[in-house]
Amino acid sequence: AGHSDSAHSTGGRLIVLTGPTAVGKGTVEAALLAKHPEVWVSVSATTREPRPGEVNGVNYWFMSEAEFVRKEQEGKFLETAVVHGMAHYGTPLQPVLDHLAANTPTILEIDLQGARRVKQEASQMGLDVVYVFIAPPSYEELVRRLIGRGTENEEQRAKRLETAKVELAAEPEFDVVIVNNTVDQAADDLWKVIAEEYGISGD
Ligand code: 5GP
Repeated sequence: AGHSDSAHSTGGRLIVLTGPTAVGKGTVEAALLAKHPEVWVSVSATTREPRPGEVNGVNYWFMSEAEFVRKEQEGKFLETAVVHGMAHYGTPLQPVLDHLAANTPTILEIDLQGARRVKQEASQMGLDVVYVFIAPPSYEELVRRLIGRGTENEEQRAKRLETAKVELAAEPEFDVVIVNNTVDQAADDLWKVIAEEYGISGD
């Protein structure tokens, strides 16, 4: 914390939010934004096809692989990853720097590989980061949530459970662990972290 001599002097610390698949990161984030619309969540770029209802610039910046790779080579991303062995995902760097410079609470919701990439790159980029892990109440509960979603076949589910196990083991790499018992509680806990990092008082 507090690298006052860093290259770009950013305001608050960047919040990197990670958690195992199906832990409910997106839901917690939505609850946080409903209560605290001043929070800004980075919009990632991806080469995967938009799903029905997804909007360019809102859910993701959808782009071709050629465009993605060009931007990657130009150094336009803070981190990139290939997820599920298929699509590219990346966090556009400049909007993150701009929001931090304006002292806007800034969140990246990325997968574990992405969080590890940020860990490698952050200090070079003059970024001060707090790593937050959203954990399920238990592995059994995570399994229940994963199955409850009911969107996968048996094989996909087995693969995701295996991934979830590996992801859960990464918890000790993080600065803060928030247990997602209820969405509201987890959103409040996340807000407390943000308020502390950005020097925001009250609730
Ligand atoms: P989906 O395609 O289901 O929206 O996302 C698939 C996975 O990609 C999720 O685990 C999500 O956290 C991850 N993801 C989304 N955006 C980014 C990003 O910018 N960087 C990285 N590393 N992962 C991302």
